[in-house]
Amino acid sequence: MIIGSGPAGYTAAIYASRANMSPVLYQGTQPGGQLTTTNEVENYPGYKDGVTGPEMMIEFQEQAKRFGTDIRDGWVTKVDFSGEIHKVWVNETKEIHCDTVIIATGASAKYLGLPSEQKYLQMGGGVSACAVCDGFFYRNQEVVIVGGGDSACEEAHYLSKLCKKVTMLVRRDEFRASKIMQARVKNTKNIEIMYNTLTEEVLGDGQVVTGVKVKNKISGKVTEIPATGFFVAIGHKPNTDIFKDFLELDETGYIINVPGTSKTNIEGVFVSGDAADHVYRQAVTAAGTGCMAALDAERYLAAKDANFEVSTSTYN
Ligand code: NAP
Repeated sequence: MIIGSGPAGYTAAIYASRANMSPVLYQGTQPGGQLTTTNEVENYPGYKDGVTGPEMMIEFQEQAKRFGTDIRDGWVTKVDFSGEIHKVWVNETKEIHCDTVIIATGASAKYLGLPSEQKYLQMGGGVSACAVCDGFFYRNQEVVIVGGGDSACEEAHYLSKLCKKVTMLVRRDEFRASKIMQARVKNTKNIEIMYNTLTEEVLGDGQVVTGVKVKNKISGKVTEIPATGFFVAIGHKPNTDIFKDFLELDETGYIINVPGTSKTNIEGVFVSGDAADHVYRQAVTAAGTGCMAALDAERYLAAKDANFEVSTSTYN
């Protein structure tokens, strides 16, 4: 059973189906995962001219189908990993028993929730939660980034190398980020930091972002910052709530894997992609760990059942 349909889930499916493991993949509520909210993907190797996120995920899906993955609509709402056979419930009611489970439920970027932010996010008009993915489209332009943690600092610094100017909006009078990350942004000439600053509205012309309206929460002063891109870096939430009674999670909810593998603390349950990764969070790293999970699952099954042969094709 593979739970999730982003690059991690589909890559696990491709490997597992080619190894005759008869994988069943449940897509969840956002088939294709976070990439379906990305316009253009230019950093996934093999797509030399780039590809849109939704198109790329359709190709992943077709490739998994080609080898016989049973791809199903449905949302996994509950699991029970207490026995040797792992139980998974789909849409509250359907109970499925599996020998192995590969978790590829990903993480969701947090957004401010402003209607104007959501409008330009949905339209692909200049709102993004991933500087590494989308920064390139704002070369030599002025952008705004909201957040005061390590991610915001890292992304602001990344953007500063591409963009003319980066304005950072920090809601308190101090950063949450580590000292070293703070120093990096404070020492970068084209990053302006605005403390005690709240985002009121993402401004645009109906098609694309043209600026950001902000308010200083001490003075009450409202300012409009011209910008073509609005980056949100206020954290991610891993989609792991349903596993918390069985799996070891870190303090922010990411599943803890055995280093260098996809193994969790439960035998036969493997994790891949952003559900266990708060550092890299890229499509290509998710796909890599999806591959690892399928190989780990195959070896687990082979060790458990002498009749299950590890396929040689898997390693081709
Ligand atoms: P984070 O540490 O939770 O920081 C989130 C930031 O966003 C905080 O400054 C928070 O403000 C701000 N924020 C939250 N909601 C907001 C809102 N509605 N409006 C405005 N600002 C808002 O998240 P993160 O930066 O993604 O980091 C997650 C974890 O990964 C951390 O443990 C971090 O150290 C780690 N990480 C490490 C590195 C690295 O070392 N290279 C890089 C990235 C991430 P408040 O401070 O006021 O709450």
